[in-house]
Amino acid sequence: MSAASPALQIEQRAPLREHNSFGLPAVARTLVRVASAADVRRVVDHPELGRARKFVLGGGSNVVLTRDVADVVLKIEIKGRRLAAETPDAWIVEAGAGENWHALVAWTLDQGWPGLENLALIPGTVGAAPVQNIGAYGVELAERFESLDGVDLVTGRGVTLDGAMCRFGYRDSVFKHELAGKTVITGVRLRLQRPWRPVLGYLELERKVAETGNTHPDARTVFDWVCAIRRHKLPDPATLGNAGSFFKNPVVSAEQCRDIIGRDPEVVHYPLPDGRMKLAAGWLIDACGWKGKSVGRAGVYEKQALVLVNRGGATGAEVVTLARAIQESVYGRFGIRLEPEPVIL
Ligand SMILES: Cc1cc2nc3c(=O)[nH]c(=O)nc-3n(C[C@H](O)[C@H](O)[C@H](O)COP(=O)(O)OP(=O)(O)OC[C@H]3O[C@@H](n4cnc5c(N)ncnc54)[C@H](O)[C@@H]3O)c2cc1C
Repeated sequence: MSAASPALQIEQRAPLREHNSFGLPAVARTLVRVASAADVRRVVDHPELGRARKFVLGGGSNVVLTRDVADVVLKIEIKGRRLAAETPDAWIVEAGAGENWHALVAWTLDQGWPGLENLALIPGTVGAAPVQNIGAYGVELAERFESLDGVDLVTGRGVTLDGAMCRFGYRDSVFKHELAGKTVITGVRLRLQRPWRPVLGYLELERKVAETGNTHPDARTVFDWVCAIRRHKLPDPATLGNAGSFFKNPVVSAEQCRDIIGRDPEVVHYPLPDGRMKLAAGWLIDACGWKGKSVGRAGVYEKQALVLVNRGGATGAEVVTLARAIQESVYGRFGIRLEPEPVIL
């Protein structure tokens, strides 16, 4: 394939194992390294790349590659971060989509702009954060979001979306629906509210407060707590391939929840503002006896049943077979269909 512009970095038959946190083997027929919004427009205008189907890849920490990828893979490597504005009630921080998310969180704290500490150590890039509205320890991206810039993959036109336009939901946004595969996010702006207030309502953070007796932790302390909790309970993809939580926590009606509690009084559940109940998917999987089990070289993490892992040399097909077997047992026992969180390709 000939490049329209020498500036576009195009690779043929690019191995993807290093580009996905599960460490799954797959090859991209064509991979383009995208370093700017202008690169995205060059791809759109390119005589061959422009017409081809495309898959946008950030850090690959929320994908399961089950096969070689025929779509043109756009590997997002847009860098840059700055304070875009400072007002009496907020710092507005802007970052390129290819920046590492955790490095951004640490950098904002170093600059004295707190607010992202509960979202520390989430792997992946800034540009992917709005796609599934990343969340952890009582905070979702949507609560710290100002706006984002993107490029339409059909027209090459630049777009700017505010929070309402992104239609954020639980691990959900417009980028998983109407705009799926249609828009490349090139930059994100975050609103860090002043004065800063810690978010400590999550059970494991409440425990840290109780253990340490520190009832007024600063943002750096919350960051350290979140990192310590995560390191203890989640496998590091560098040593044990995984994509974090494999299933979303299912939401059921209050009546269905009462029914399950009747049979399984221990079921972990949280009330939602609309009266429905969110169930802990990890608990449901554990209750079906999956913790520590394997199918081929794919397994269920010993410390957290919600995390599926690559025990070494697993294929995407093995991961999907394991995931389906788990879905079937959870459905058989609880009548609940677990929905995968990562994108299965
Ligand atoms: C150990 C571990 C822990 C995790 N913990 C959490 C957690 O606590 N909370 C949480 O929410 N998630 C968690 N995740 C999931 C993952 O880290 C997030 O979903 C993250 O935002 C994915 O970023 P990425 O750059 O790796 O995206 P990728 O995996 O590369 O892509 C994910 C999706 O986003 C799309 N995408 C990526 N970049 C762009 C872009 N610039 N424009 C448009 N679309 C794009 C892709 O096409 C794909 O559909 C965890 C994962 C791991 C491995």
